[in-house]
Amino acid sequence: MNYELIIIGGGPGAMSAAIYAARKKIKTLLVAKILGGQMMEGYQIENYLGVPGLMGADLTKKFAEHLKKFEKNSGQGIFDLEIKEGEEVKNIKMAPDSGEFEVCSDRRIYITKSIIIATGRAERKLEVPGTKEFEGKGITYCATCDAPLFRDKIVAVIGAGDSGQDTVWQLTKYASKIYLLNRYNELRGDDKNLQEKLKKEPKVQTLSEVELIKILGDKFVTALVYRNFRSKEEKQIEVNGIFVEIGSTPASSFVKGLLRCNEKGEIIVDHNSCVTSVPGIFAAGDVTDILEKQIIISAGEGAKSALSAYNYLKNR
Ligand code: NDP
Repeated sequence: MNYELIIIGGGPGAMSAAIYAARKKIKTLLVAKILGGQMMEGYQIENYLGVPGLMGADLTKKFAEHLKKFEKNSGQGIFDLEIKEGEEVKNIKMAPDSGEFEVCSDRRIYITKSIIIATGRAERKLEVPGTKEFEGKGITYCATCDAPLFRDKIVAVIGAGDSGQDTVWQLTKYASKIYLLNRYNELRGDDKNLQEKLKKEPKVQTLSEVELIKILGDKFVTALVYRNFRSKEEKQIEVNGIFVEIGSTPASSFVKGLLRCNEKGEIIVDHNSCVTSVPGIFAAGDVTDILEKQIIISAGEGAKSALSAYNYLKNR
């Protein structure tokens, strides 16, 4: 199966790149584990142009509907875009002699002249004692999926960045009490409006300058222990659930050794063109070393990477 361009990923960067590539009449394949990526877990997204207040899943649906208008088998039938969902790319290799690439998924090997990597980021996991025992038994990484399970329960949110704050806000609709464990002495992040709302919400108690030490339980989580950074005092609190939002790492392990990455594992790109260290391979969005990790920026970077791939293919 030979293509001019393979786009790897299913988030806003990948979907936007695919629309731009299809409209440039590039023979394109998009391979994604799932369409939507991290965006699926976002609660209300207030800062995407033109559609304020949509849930992450609804914005994903809109993006996917738009994308599918350009699919080869769509009613329009004038574009050459194929979409394969439920496949994970494991490796990229240079194809022998041709100057092309082999993209190896868990199902097939594809040959292509160019690639855009827009795989985003994978959530960072907790490492304290009790994590393994209680994962799925009170410890969760997805408020959008699991918040309703904690109606009238006491919960804690670990990590107080934008995602942690968003999780607390979702939980105010269900839980009876929410502890927010913050490493810092104030709430950080972009959404100042949400921070003000959380400060006024009586169910929410922010524990500042603390770290989680361990998770306790029986069949399910029953308590956690945290330590104050300054006083070193340790305290145990009763909780029925723990929501984890401690950031993420770039989903770039499958290009290790092939592309230049920074110390965080982000793919280093030219910020004007999304070109990586290997000609013909481009990268876009949260998997790269661009500073701001935002849906709207990833969508823009995806478009940019597709236009760069178009120019590369034209001049090849
Ligand atoms: P962030 O990395 O921004 O925040 C994670 C927080 O968890 C940090 O304060 C981090 O501290 C802390 N943390 C890390 N490890 C631990 C640990 N073991 N225990 C406790 N706390 C820990 O990730 P987010 O997912 O919140 O956000 C990612 C990006 O997405 C950001 O750029 C954010 O602005 C954006 N975003 C924007 C939204 C919006 O605008 N509404 C909504 C959601 C995300 P430390 O910094 O010390 O590692």
